[in-house]
Amino acid sequence: MIIHPKVRGFICTTAHPQGCAANIGEQIDYVKSKGSITGGPKKVLVIGASTGYGLASRIVSAFGCGAATIGVFFERPAEAKRTATAGWYNSVAFQKAARSAGLYAKSINGDAFSDEIRQQTIELIKKDLKQVDCVIYSLASPRRTHPKTGQIYKSVLRPKEATYTNKSIDFEKNEVTEVTLPAATDEEIENTIMVMGGEDWQMWMDALDGAGVLAKGAITVAYSYIGPDVTTPVYRNGTIGAAKDHLEATARLLDTVMKKNNGRAFVSVNKALVTQSSSAIPFIPLYFVLLMRVMKKKNLHEDCIHQIYRLFGSMLYNGRPLMQVPVDAQGRVRVDDLEMRQDVQDEVAKLWQNVSTENVNEIADVQGYERDFLKLFGFGFANVDYNSDVEVDLSME
Ligand code: NAD
Repeated sequence: MIIHPKVRGFICTTAHPQGCAANIGEQIDYVKSKGSITGGPKKVLVIGASTGYGLASRIVSAFGCGAATIGVFFERPAEAKRTATAGWYNSVAFQKAARSAGLYAKSINGDAFSDEIRQQTIELIKKDLKQVDCVIYSLASPRRTHPKTGQIYKSVLRPKEATYTNKSIDFEKNEVTEVTLPAATDEEIENTIMVMGGEDWQMWMDALDGAGVLAKGAITVAYSYIGPDVTTPVYRNGTIGAAKDHLEATARLLDTVMKKNNGRAFVSVNKALVTQSSSAIPFIPLYFVLLMRVMKKKNLHEDCIHQIYRLFGSMLYNGRPLMQVPVDAQGRVRVDDLEMRQDVQDEVAKLWQNVSTENVNEIADVQGYERDFLKLFGFGFANVDYNSDVEVDLSME
């Protein structure tokens, strides 16, 4: 099949297998160029391992720490005339590269919110790795079927307190528009907490612990976000922020439990980045194109792989005792430090005031965003011939 991008709103419905492999290759090369991380984990479970921050965590674990990895994700293989999802191709390429480097890598494709996939994962750990010493929890999903009740919860992206209006960007029309979001109902807030809060992470850790597959000194990390004032009403003080509060409270509970086995549980606050999930959040993409321009100008720009290498290499491992991992007053690891630097935030806030359809291409990095967005689906790599016929039906094994 000859594959070109088909973009619909904030999603691309095609993915390029060779482009996704090129994307994986670039990330692996970056990690190798930075060197190995001493004292890193050796057997890692990544839940949400196929794209974005979870994929970067898997790559840093394998190629930065020499770890065996099990990745859990929910992706679709190719069907008839449809390409597979990018996460599928990413995982095929990752497994191939890891195994060529002599590293164990297996994947489980299915609903991580289900007890069945949890059980399957535990069986695989018991059979192949015996135990894991690091569990990364990096799910981002719009819905969750509760494993005990069968109830389906859907998350919404809304402010909690009151209707919120601000600027946003419409990439299809290349226009700065105004978007108004009504305040969420109590039920919507609760539903979002059920999807993106900490209950499922806790279920995973309880199940892994109960099955005896957590090594002594194991750590677990989930990812959170804070962000600037302009997105606070819809993000941190919105429904998703309520879920992140719950996730962070879960980290504190899990930390107490994990410490009994000489381990730790953390939430890491990461920077805003283009991923399949973040592009769907209102206001964030406009903030992000302004942020990208400012951070690139100041030579501070980072992608998922740079963030996670820094998290593993400078915060969690590299000879640092687990009890001395640097955290903020709420116990969170902060790799959003560069994004949140006062000079960066001041400049972005100034640009936000002035940004309009007329000047957006000039003062914001719209092209950089579009390039990064297409890269998520394997498009725009110089070493890939997009006019040649490629096999789309790639198997995971
Ligand atoms: P992403 O969309 O790139 O990745 C989500 C992963 O979850 C994929 O591997 C997907 O297959 C998996 N997944 C989704 N539903 C699943 C299910 N039911 N079962 C199994 N796997 C499932 O998302 P991301 O942006 O990397 O987000 C990961 C985490 O990082 C989230 O907690 C997010 O809030 C956080 N974070 C993101 C940003 C950002 O700007 N992107 C910033 C800070 C924190």
